[in-house]
Amino acid sequence: MKMNNGASLVVFSGGQDSTTCLFWAKKHFSKVYALSFVYGQKHVGEVEIARHIAEKAGVHFDVMDVSFIGSLGRNSLTDTSIKMDEEKPEDGCPNTFVPGRNLFFMSIAAVYAREHGINHLVTGVSQTDFSGYPDCRDSFIKSLNVTLNLAMDEQFVIHTPLMWIDKSQTWALADELGVLDLVRNETLTCYNGVKGDGCGHCPACKLRNEGLNKYLLSKK
Ligand code: ZN
Repeated sequence: MKMNNGASLVVFSGGQDSTTCLFWAKKHFSKVYALSFVYGQKHVGEVEIARHIAEKAGVHFDVMDVSFIGSLGRNSLTDTSIKMDEEKPEDGCPNTFVPGRNLFFMSIAAVYAREHGINHLVTGVSQTDFSGYPDCRDSFIKSLNVTLNLAMDEQFVIHTPLMWIDKSQTWALADELGVLDLVRNETLTCYNGVKGDGCGHCPACKLRNEGLNKYLLSKK
């Protein structure tokens, strides 16, 4: 049974987390939209990967160009001259942090949703594996939900299916939704732009692969 007959908009990058959220949304809402962003990331190919997955999932897909956010603050995801942090530093965020990214994405997603008569927003952020990114925390999402509703006099509901689960549980959710292989083979999480199992050594790959191994072992 659908949780809601309405429509939902998934903030969608074509990575493991947002792809799992896309199929979660398909299970719970009668109509699903996926919205991707170009923000000056080095691997713009990720948008084509996202488009391909959205087609497979049979959901409406759109892309917004917000490249200006990459030039506002320096980070290693958009600036090729910065060497990427392989570990989370003791003091604060890794340099893969794009300041304000989720704030911009969610705000634009809400305006887009409003235009399409959608009030459910879905994002794959997780506090469990938040890697030091402040805009992945539950308190930020709750605060933003209130702010968006006040800003547009709407009743948006932000859904965060992954907020309190870790990477291995995210794999379990993908399996439960029947898309373990699709998520494993078609998504791009790797900071070095390698699809599927990835480069194996960047922080995103480490997190993803450790979670997958843990989940696969738990199934045995
Ligand atoms: Zn990688």
